Amino acid sequence: MALDLLTFLQVSEEINWAIAHYANLRGEAYASDLLERVESFENLEDALCFALAGFTATRYLDTMYCENCFIHLKGIEACDYPDIIHKIITPDCSMVNHILLTEEMVLDQDHSEIINSCYIGK
Ligand SMILES: [Zn+2]
Repeated sequence: MALDLLTFLQVSEEINWAIAHYANLRGEAYASDLLERVESFENLEDALCFALAGFTATRYLDTMYCENCFIHLKGIEACDYPDIIHKIITPDCSMVNHILLTEEMVLDQDHSEIINSCYIGK
């Protein structure tokens, strides 16, 4: 999806901020992995959301996977809370075990419908 210039600049700024933030917080190696995950997605607008949730795009049939726990998801959107979905399916994965329970309200919601439609296994 092509982005207009303003959206592109805004998204790039968010990505740069996140990379700098995580380099500071979790080290250069994590930040570099995060950038690699961002760059795996064609849709830059949602890339940061998926990359922060620990996913890398496969570029095959709209699927993405976690290189740590190897779950594969298909057809998920940024608004489906990919980080929460990841944590529900594999709560011990180190990519998501830092997600705080301040997300409890979101965790409490029923995500079974989206999980049934997007989770294609390991
Ligand atoms: Zn994982």
